[in-house]
Amino acid sequence: MPLDPETRQQLLDAIRQFVDDRLIPRESEVAEADAMPEDIVQDMREMGLFGLSIAPEFGGLGLTMEEEALVIFAIGRAAPAFRSMFATNVGIGSQGIAIDGTPEQKAKYLPRLASGALIGSFALTEPEVGSDAGSVRTTARRDGDSYVLTGTKRYITNAPHAGLFTVMARTNPEVKGAGGVSAFAVEAGLPGLSLGKAERKMGQQGAHVCDVIFDNCRVPADALIGGVEGQGFKTAMKVLDKGRLHIAAACTGLAERIIDDMMAYAVGRRQFGRAIAEFQLLQGLFADSKAETLAARALVLDAAHRRDAGEDVSVAASCAKMFASEMVGRVADRNVQVHGGAGYIRDYRAEQLFRDARLFRIYEGTTQIQQTIIAKAMIAEARAAAGL
Ligand SMILES: Cc1cc2nc3c(=O)[nH]c(=O)nc-3n(C[C@H](O)[C@H](O)[C@H](O)COP(=O)(O)OP(=O)(O)OC[C@H]3O[C@@H](n4cnc5c(N)ncnc54)[C@H](O)[C@@H]3O)c2cc1C
Repeated sequence: MPLDPETRQQLLDAIRQFVDDRLIPRESEVAEADAMPEDIVQDMREMGLFGLSIAPEFGGLGLTMEEEALVIFAIGRAAPAFRSMFATNVGIGSQGIAIDGTPEQKAKYLPRLASGALIGSFALTEPEVGSDAGSVRTTARRDGDSYVLTGTKRYITNAPHAGLFTVMARTNPEVKGAGGVSAFAVEAGLPGLSLGKAERKMGQQGAHVCDVIFDNCRVPADALIGGVEGQGFKTAMKVLDKGRLHIAAACTGLAERIIDDMMAYAVGRRQFGRAIAEFQLLQGLFADSKAETLAARALVLDAAHRRDAGEDVSVAASCAKMFASEMVGRVADRNVQVHGGAGYIRDYRAEQLFRDARLFRIYEGTTQIQQTIIAKAMIAEARAAAGL
């Protein structure tokens, strides 16, 4: 159920103010400490950010995809590590349960995910399994009324803070592809579950990833999401369709912020006796950035709107994620160029945001994987049209 226009505006205004007053001023502190201050996390909880996408019956805001995109455009203006803190609960860390969970699983976990009392992570990637996500090697062997999980998950966002993992594991070793994979809701702290060291990353300091290691980790049989084996890959793909729109919105918000920074610098900085903004060679960079950002915004809103109307937006979500993540990379790069030497210096945000933006082209499906998804659908459509 969409919010009424007044409530929606109040929510967006509150988030914009939070970003300007509380998040942007603390970007350096978070990046340097590589830690998210607890008072910020508490503010996020109080604003309901952890529960943006979770239904009101479980304590969330139950936003439509379009509303979620508008919120993420606004939050996306701050350095991406802030969004990352609550975003797994909004997307990949909760939606497996929200979309395909049993009523008991929803009742057990969604209220605490919505409040932010519990952090949820999504564990698909493995050391040998990345883009080829259907070939998951982690196994889940049925043993009486439990499953026993063995394997390693890699680069899992928020794993050091997580109380709950959505884990993709192979329940049927006879089926080598995606059909043998099931999804599990696994609680942190179980015997046989341990974490690797936090990875040192190129950017987004303050957001943390590490390995999640299962060594004969016994989970109750009712941890199987949806209670049906072999559905895990489908669950993961549904989660990622939504996640890709969310990431595309984050890229768009960040690009809008970077353009503001770019323009503020360009009108203030003077060379050859005038503001550098007056040089037409730079104006080309401004105009390309603006047009591409508007295009990304339109793509995201169109796909979000169609998802809310019940359409399958798998291809549109891939298009939005591919375009917006590549676009923010270009915008962040132009911003470094407009800043000249200052763009390469840590004290200016241009350098940090350039590094932060790089991740968007890699996770939740690389650009090449989005291209393969889009092209595969196009070929199938062309074959069907040709009767082949
Ligand atoms: C900071 C960070 C956070 C992450 N968070 C999570 C998380 O929370 N949960 C999770 O499960 N994973 C997470 N990941 C993992 C991420 O989703 C993967 O790294 C990503 O999907 C790519 O997989 P890979 O690293 O194994 O690269 P690979 O799959 O080995 O790809 C290497 C290169 O080959 C290309 N390639 C692969 N296959 C094809 C193909 N068929 N056609 C053309 N090109 C191809 C890729 O595009 C890429 O350029 C995270 C990663 C990072 C860095």
